[in-house]
Amino acid sequence: MPMQCCECENYQMVDAEVEERLTVAGRAFVVVVPGTECLQCGNTYLRYDAMIAVKRSVAMELVRHGDVNAETFKYMRKTIPMSVAELAPLLHVAPETVSRWESGEQPIEPNAAALLALMVVEAIEGRSTCIDHLKATLDPISWPEVTRLAPDVSVIAADAAPKDLPAGFDGHFPLEPAVQDSAAKRREQGARAARPRGDQRLGLEAAFA
Ligand SMILES: [Zn+2]
Repeated sequence: MPMQCCECENYQMVDAEVEERLTVAGRAFVVVVPGTECLQCGNTYLRYDAMIAVKRSVAMELVRHGDVNAETFKYMRKTIPMSVAELAPLLHVAPETVSRWESGEQPIEPNAAALLALMVVEAIEGRSTCIDHLKATLDPISWPEVTRLAPDVSVIAADAAPKDLPAGFDGHFPLEPAVQDSAAKRREQGARAARPRGDQRLGLEAAFA
């Protein structure tokens, strides 16, 4: 069924780059997104997914500018989207508290605003680590006997290494002095060159301690 213009009831609609102007919390935004234009009256329309994308891009700018106030907090919450009743327990406050933050009756807890900002960024990136973590603090996820992990070592940045590495660090985590001593002793005694796994684990834990 062809789309009809709500303004002039014309059916001649074409795909167009739509320029949307909006003001949120006193900040003016111009957003260009794919939409539809009426050939007769020039009215423009956004698809539902484009409207969501517009709101999220505005919310992202609010996050980037650190603009925390009653209006931006409410806007960001609705962008995720999340109700007051859903958000409040994750922030360990009563729903009434969130309502008072959003009406300006009570100053917003800065850490709560930071968590909301994280949720906005993750929603845009299609992730939910922050929300999942907050939910898990309320309703812990049970542990298996052993948790098996396969970390992607290719994404570790060079500056993630401990800052207080000893001089002459060769890119391998050092073993604790006591472990090195016993390792040297084992070598002297003609033991296997390979270090026992337990010693390596001690060294790695010590490097990050
Ligand atoms: Zn029209």
